[in-house]
Amino acid sequence: MTELRRRYSDQSVKYSRQQISKLAFVLAGLLIAVTSVSLLFVGFVASHASRQQAIANEERLFQNTVDDRMRSIVREQITVASSDESVRKLVRSFDAAYARLSFDTLWSTYRHSKVMLISGNGDVIAESFEDYTHIISRPISEMPDLAQIHDKLKGVYLRNRVRVPGGFGHRTLQGIDPSEYAIMGFVKIDGRPALFGAMPIMPDEYETTLPDGPPTVLLSAHYIDDFMLAQLNGQLGFENFLFTGGAVEETDGPHHAVANQRGEPIGTFTWNSQTVGDSIWPTIIPVIVLLSLALGALAFGIAWRIGQLTSFLQASESQNRYLALHDSLSGLANRLQFNRVLETSVKNLPDKPFAVIHCDLDKFKAVNDTYGHAAGDTVIKTMAERLTKVIGKPGLVCRIGGDEFMVIYRGPVDSGNLESLSKALIAAGRQPIPLSEDVSANIGLSVGIAIAPQDGDTAEQLVTRSDAALYHSKKMGRGQFTTYADISEARDGPEDLLQRQASA
Ligand code: GH3
Ligand code: MG
Repeated sequence: MTELRRRYSDQSVKYSRQQISKLAFVLAGLLIAVTSVSLLFVGFVASHASRQQAIANEERLFQNTVDDRMRSIVREQITVASSDESVRKLVRSFDAAYARLSFDTLWSTYRHSKVMLISGNGDVIAESFEDYTHIISRPISEMPDLAQIHDKLKGVYLRNRVRVPGGFGHRTLQGIDPSEYAIMGFVKIDGRPALFGAMPIMPDEYETTLPDGPPTVLLSAHYIDDFMLAQLNGQLGFENFLFTGGAVEETDGPHHAVANQRGEPIGTFTWNSQTVGDSIWPTIIPVIVLLSLALGALAFGIAWRIGQLTSFLQASESQNRYLALHDSLSGLANRLQFNRVLETSVKNLPDKPFAVIHCDLDKFKAVNDTYGHAAGDTVIKTMAERLTKVIGKPGLVCRIGGDEFMVIYRGPVDSGNLESLSKALIAAGRQPIPLSEDVSANIGLSVGIAIAPQDGDTAEQLVTRSDAALYHSKKMGRGQFTTYADISEARDGPEDLLQRQASA
């Protein structure tokens, strides 16, 4: 019966306080995780992008610096390659002393480590080794890299060549970029990687003209040595700026691979990138930590508040439930609960027989009239306690209104047990009820019983019939109990009607 009672009076809400708080924490945790992962992702993407951008910038700077250096080589060459005298002494006829002088100038003034003079018909006719100039005659075809440069330069030269009286001239170099009249790049000379510039020997005053045919070419090279690296890095300011000769090695960091005019690898410049990418993390990590702390604190606050509201709602709901199903004066189950439990009990018939015991106080009105309504209330409360005690666990005692009580009794429903139970109830009703130190109320109790299923198998029948039995007890003088069987038998033959005094 207690179980049945609990089912009607104490249903728990779908989510308990702990569950909702846990849910809030889980959601906050998820939010923190998603936010942190997003920030890490953004940080990673941003740092990667900024690193790539920084590397691209460094490579552009490197390219510009190297281009500048190559253009300088060509501009330095102009001092000896662009004059009427050089055309006369190096192209039209070969003056070894003049060639030596010119090569010396390029070495001593500009540190061109290697200078070569290549005749129009493709022979190397002078070659320097730093400050020493060797006059030779060696076909350039023995040096495929140089032959390629010479070939390319022929094309460039023919585009710039202009016909002048008595021969050919070259368009003015004023205001034009070296790439329009010279060839520049990387080359391997004497087995050493070098930066080179090559340009045709040309007149500047046009007192002398160039002969028809391919140009006589001046080629200057700077070996890529520590001096050259230091010179380049003076402009670049790179950390660990190095050149490694040979095939290109795959590297993640910034690098610039160089090849000769035929596309064969010569080596790779490498350096440590001074990217700002890494500096994003010191910003992002504290943001993630702060955000997580803020979200965590917020989640804790929300979860705590939700928990508070939920327990308040739970308390208020269980209070409402209690009020809806209980009588406020006696604390017993009220009529609504009685009806529900009765309906449920009826559904379990015929397997679980039970009795409906209808009780009404005798002469209760007199208590109200004599001692006042408050005294009447005391009587009702006291009687409620006594009835509950007498009925015990197998029954649910309900106050269905006024001085009426109904019991749904699930204990043994044999007449012997019901008789002794009824007598105990009537005896409890007879006990004086103390109202004050020297005043007690003396009332009584009448009982009517209907047993399910033999006296009825619907809630309505059982209520009506227990009421009829109670009415009979009242009519027969109060302080008695009557079963419905008694009055139905009495209808058949009133002489058999059993009247039993509780005190008997
Ligand atoms: P009977 O023996 O025939 O049962 O007569 P009775 O005096 O007990 O009168 P009856 O049962 O007809 O009426 C019950 C009375 O109980 C009527 C009403 O004034 C009184 N009453 C109903 N509810 C309350 C209540 O909550 N408190 C008090 N003090 N009295 C109530
Ligand atoms: Mg009464």
